[in-house]
Amino acid sequence: MGDGEKKFEIEKSEAQWRELLDEKTYRVTRQCGTEPPFSGKYYDHHEDGVYACVACGAELFDSTTKYESGSGWPSFYDAVDEERVATREDRSAGMVRTEILCARCGAHLGHVFRDGPPPTGLRFCVNSAALQFIPRGDG
Ligand code: FE
Repeated sequence: MGDGEKKFEIEKSEAQWRELLDEKTYRVTRQCGTEPPFSGKYYDHHEDGVYACVACGAELFDSTTKYESGSGWPSFYDAVDEERVATREDRSAGMVRTEILCARCGAHLGHVFRDGPPPTGLRFCVNSAALQFIPRGDG
């Protein structure tokens, strides 16, 4: 996973992001918000395709790595490419967690935990609001 402190390829002001994104998406991706569990559009979504960053379109997670974590958020055991997802230590809410961000635009995605299934043992716990699903084309 990339270094969360580095500059992002896509840099916009908070005002620009606010204009670009709807309120819920802005709150999650730019203010590290969390959607309530079992509320997002993708936690119980099982189509074949790729989940891209809602803010910049970078392809982040593949449906073939999605699994039922029971958490109420879309969960993946791997990223499309480790370079696509940046990490940063998050000491908010009285916990030490590893935040995950889109490495291209810095959108907050969720957190990664070490209680996932094989082969990685990772659980990328992602807000539906940070993702846009792209069905796999057949050509
Ligand atoms: Fe992005």
